[in-house]
Amino acid sequence: MEQKFTKEIKGIKIDPLIFTFSFHCRCNGECCNYGVYTDLKEHDYILSIKDKIIPMLDESQTRDVNKWFEPAEEDEDFESGVAVGTELHNNKCVFLDKQGLCTLQKLAIQEGAHKWKYKPLYCILFPLTIYEGALTIDDEHIDRLKTCNRTPVERTTIFEACKEELLHLFGEDGYAELEQYKNEFLESNNSKGVA
Ligand code: SF4
Ligand code: SF4
Repeated sequence: MEQKFTKEIKGIKIDPLIFTFSFHCRCNGECCNYGVYTDLKEHDYILSIKDKIIPMLDESQTRDVNKWFEPAEEDEDFESGVAVGTELHNNKCVFLDKQGLCTLQKLAIQEGAHKWKYKPLYCILFPLTIYEGALTIDDEHIDRLKTCNRTPVERTTIFEACKEELLHLFGEDGYAELEQYKNEFLESNNSKGVA
């Protein structure tokens, strides 16, 4: 069913469920056990730095670059219109090491760069995602994971839990607009008596 969201920031519609959905990130990266869809440009970028990635891989990962990605497929939710999934190896994303760390993030940190320099956008965003042009909750992926968000100890919303990710996606100005929309949305729901 097509969702109709009224607010749009920098070309991305906003699902207001992100302002009320409780989320607490506390586990060892189970979300990486299924791999991720990268944009074609991200795929190309990762392959262009393969010589830096390969020496960082451990024995639970594959150094065969031909086994890193699935075939490309068309997908309008990706900037270039083409998505390329990462492959699984030993039941986890090819870039996840035996300690549960992302090699792409480790590489960036080792180089003193921003930790997300090489990381695909959809890895950064999860448990948020962009689906049919709207920023929303990746509830399908959350639901199939055994540990993700199973023991929320605080009433933190996904909006609060993912502030760094949202700032990354929208920038300071876009984030401020999102925060304003959140306040307006919650105020309007409170005045309607919606919990
Ligand atoms: S997003 Fe979910 S699966 Fe991923 S590290 Fe956090 S709690 Fe674990
Ligand atoms: S690329 Fe890194 S963060 Fe993304 S699924 Fe693979 S291991 Fe996880």
